[in-house]
Amino acid sequence: MFRQVRPSENYLLNFGVILQEFTQTGTQISLLTFYKFFVIKWFCVFLKEFDSPWGYFLSNRTTNFLLNKMDEKQDQQFMRAAIDQAYIALENDDVPVGAVIVHQNQIIAKGCNQRHQLNDPTAHAEIIALTAAAEHIGHWRLHNCTIYVTLEPCSMCAGALVLARIERLVFGCDDPKTGACGSLYNIVQDKRLNHRVEITKGVLAEDCSKILQDFFRVKRERSDNEF
Ligand SMILES: [Zn+2]
Repeated sequence: MFRQVRPSENYLLNFGVILQEFTQTGTQISLLTFYKFFVIKWFCVFLKEFDSPWGYFLSNRTTNFLLNKMDEKQDQQFMRAAIDQAYIALENDDVPVGAVIVHQNQIIAKGCNQRHQLNDPTAHAEIIALTAAAEHIGHWRLHNCTIYVTLEPCSMCAGALVLARIERLVFGCDDPKTGACGSLYNIVQDKRLNHRVEITKGVLAEDCSKILQDFFRVKRERSDNEF
C-alpha cells in the first residue's frame, strides 16, 4: 500500500522541499505533527552526517513515514469526493458508487453510477468519469491520472482503466462478487496486457461499504429484486 521513497526524493532531506510537498498535497496533518517529524528528521540527518548506520536507517524511515502519512491523507481527501458522488447515485436510486479522477492534485472529472437513470448497462461511475477526464485533457490517454472509486471496479471498468492508461487506481471496499482488481481477476495488473495500473485499496473502506450496505438493506426490505 505504501510507496517507497524514490531516489529523486532523497533531496527531501531539504526542509524547503518537504514544506513544498506538504503544502501541495493540502493535507490536514497538524503543524505540531509536522514539526515533530521535522525535528526527528534533522536529528537523523545529524546522525547520518557522522556515518551512523542507525542515522541512515532512521533518516529513510522518517522520510518514508512522513510521505506515507501525506499520501494517506491525500487519498482520503479525494475518496471523500468519490463518496459524495456515490450519494448522488443514491439520490437517483442507482447502486451508490462514485468516482473522481485526479491530475496534478486537481479533480478533473467526476462520475457516479447512472445505470438506472440512463437505462445504460455501461453507465458505471468509472466509465462516466473516464469519458469526462478524456474530454477535459483532450486526449483518450490519461497519463499521470489517478482514479478514486468507492468500490473495486468490475471487469468492464478495469478493462477501460487499462485502455485509458490510468496510472493509479485507489478504491475503497472490495467487491468479492464482481471485482476485477484483485477479487475475481486482476485485469489492471495482468502482465499479458500492455499497461498496468498501480493499486491502493481499502481507503475509507468502511464509509464506502456502509453506503452500499444501507442501499441494499432498504432494497431487501422493499423486496425490490431489480438489483
Ligand atoms: Zn464497472
